[in-house]
Amino acid sequence: MTSTLPALTLNNGVTMPALGFGVFQTPPDETVAAVREALRVGYRHVDTAAAYGNEREVGRAIAESGLDRSDVFVETKVWISDFGYDATLHAFDKSAGKLGLEQIDLFILHQALPSRFDLTAEAYRALETLLADGRVRAIGVSNFMPEHLDRLMTTATVVPAVNQVEVHPYFQQPDVQAADAALGVVTQAWSPIGGITAYRENGARTFDDATIVGLAERHGATPAQVMLRWHLQQGRSAIPKSTRPERIAENLDVLGFTLDADELAALDALDQGVRRGPEPADVTLEAFGRAIPEA
Ligand code: NDP
Repeated sequence: MTSTLPALTLNNGVTMPALGFGVFQTPPDETVAAVREALRVGYRHVDTAAAYGNEREVGRAIAESGLDRSDVFVETKVWISDFGYDATLHAFDKSAGKLGLEQIDLFILHQALPSRFDLTAEAYRALETLLADGRVRAIGVSNFMPEHLDRLMTTATVVPAVNQVEVHPYFQQPDVQAADAALGVVTQAWSPIGGITAYRENGARTFDDATIVGLAERHGATPAQVMLRWHLQQGRSAIPKSTRPERIAENLDVLGFTLDADELAALDALDQGVRRGPEPADVTLEAFGRAIPEA
């Protein structure tokens, strides 16, 4: 089921499994079991963040898996409270220390700080240093809008490998995807199956959408599998989260069918243009800052 999972080649030549395993909101005491199960069934890419408070448990599950370090692609994120050149270099030490790793595969800025773009640019410069020093294999960003990418590229010397942003059928951000593509940045979908339409609101959930359910029935698949297939066929990375073994397996088992052009277009047509996550322009240290503990 897993050996043929697609990989994406990043703009610096590093290979990343397109499908990763997310752990946002996974409590630390459930993280070892979830990541262990994910690795057992064949995921080889885990997405965490300093702000999730579970890097230590992600690292423990990887260490206990018995897999070679080189067989697991580990991605984590610097929180905005650690932005700035020296602070972000130290953020690497904190994340690597908790993960128990010498090297992180993909290290990204969790958000832009639009009102303190100087700090954002300095944080990214630290990522460039870590890349040059071999402490990380690739660097990138998250929740960067086209104007943030443009602004970053006025000082950056390395084009981000990845921009991790909210993308699910109900919110697709075509402008961000186009900006990423123009720069050679892989778009990585967070909440790829629209989990945020279920846990953040009482409105329509992607899982119940008639078009998605109809495609699932047609292909003998589940709604989550249809959405993940859509991401992969359109060249995106996707990092679904679950703590339930049956769903962890389900979300990886997405290669048994193919969506045709009309079906992909039907999913594209579901975009409502309504963001569920935080508005990137409104992210400030005052509103979102919080200290990230030492390793
Ligand atoms: P997802 O789209 O991955 O959905 C996860 C939710 O859906 C959970 O509530 C999960 O519950 C449920 N679920 C999982 N699989 C299925 C299934 N097959 N059928 C039905 N329900 C299912 O949303 P997330 O917001 O968690 O995003 C995924 C990952 O993206 C995060 O874990 C994190 O790594 C990253 N992320 C990054 C952000 C950023 O700002 N950069 C913001 C948000 C997420 P259960 O666990 O009970 O199965």
